[in-house]
Amino acid sequence: MSNQRPRVVITDCDHPSVEIEREVLNEIKPELVLAYCNTEDEVIEVAQDADGIINQYAPITRRVIESLKRCKVIARYGVGVDNIDIKAATEHKIIVANVPDYCIDEVSTHTMALILACARGITLLNSKIKEKRWDFTLAKPLFRTQGKTLGLFGLGRIGRMVAQKASGFGFKIIAYDPYISSIDDRIELVGFSKLLSDSDFVSIHVPLTAETRHSFGENELKKMKKTAYLINTARGPIVDEKALYKALKNRWVAGAALDVMEKEPPDWENSLLKLDNLIITPHISFYSEESYAELKKKVAKAVLLVMKGELPPALVNPQAVEK
Ligand code: NAD
Repeated sequence: MSNQRPRVVITDCDHPSVEIEREVLNEIKPELVLAYCNTEDEVIEVAQDADGIINQYAPITRRVIESLKRCKVIARYGVGVDNIDIKAATEHKIIVANVPDYCIDEVSTHTMALILACARGITLLNSKIKEKRWDFTLAKPLFRTQGKTLGLFGLGRIGRMVAQKASGFGFKIIAYDPYISSIDDRIELVGFSKLLSDSDFVSIHVPLTAETRHSFGENELKKMKKTAYLINTARGPIVDEKALYKALKNRWVAGAALDVMEKEPPDWENSLLKLDNLIITPHISFYSEESYAELKKKVAKAVLLVMKGELPPALVNPQAVEK
């Protein structure tokens, strides 16, 4: 490292303060720049001379990566790295780090909250009472959850934690995940079609990839039970929203609960938002005061380690190091 202070650029961040990051990075006395980029051009302008980048939502495209003169690491606040062109970063020997394990408890609990809100008609009844209607029959029919089947699409960290929590409610757990071999005996691995046809609740816990994009379209939603609910706390584009609208409107399924949408924030005219059988929260599953602090600490630590010539614990593109 030259005697110049390393430049660490936070391209964007919706947290109220970056004091935790500053504290962790203090060891290398960086010039820490906090920007509020939305576009590729804004990122290029502020980050082209960066030694390290911390990023939340701003697009780190191939064009951005090609503009970086000496960047060694891009660390993402969070699990998903779909806004970063990993292939381009790897070609340029830039390490991409994420923080895969800061909010497993929060997302799995939020998933359970959405499942239970669907199962008990909570949000519908809550809004009806505010319209001065005290009438539980408005939520009919509701079914007992004990013994019902929860189908997990993806059985990684969050899927497994949901399975553990849902078992406590007496759900039978099935899962589709072609990339894992060993699982808990209490979870039955099934094919995708069986997951759709047998589940009373289908909950999505896969990353957004070319393979998982629009995994839930008209065909898949039609295969689900009419009494079933679809829960998505993973990424919006895994569900084709136009197909979901048809499914909810025509009651191919009983309802859906989403924490993520294809476009966030959504267009307020989006007709999905008007449906009574849709529950929605604004991409909050990851959040608690504790998870926030852990995320900020871990993302800054990843940059610190690379600056010191070490590897971050969660390396997205090991091929960058091999290169
Ligand atoms: P993980 O990597 O531990 O698990 C993902 C699982 O999906 C893996 O077991 C993988 O084998 C499986 N998978 C991949 N492609 C698949 C496919 N085509 N079909 C079936 N299974 C497939 O990730 P995680 O920590 O469990 O997180 C899951 C996702 O949740 C993340 O990728 C992220 O997008 C999302 N997430 C959302 C929030 C939020 O606030 N809403 C917060 C954290 C994570």
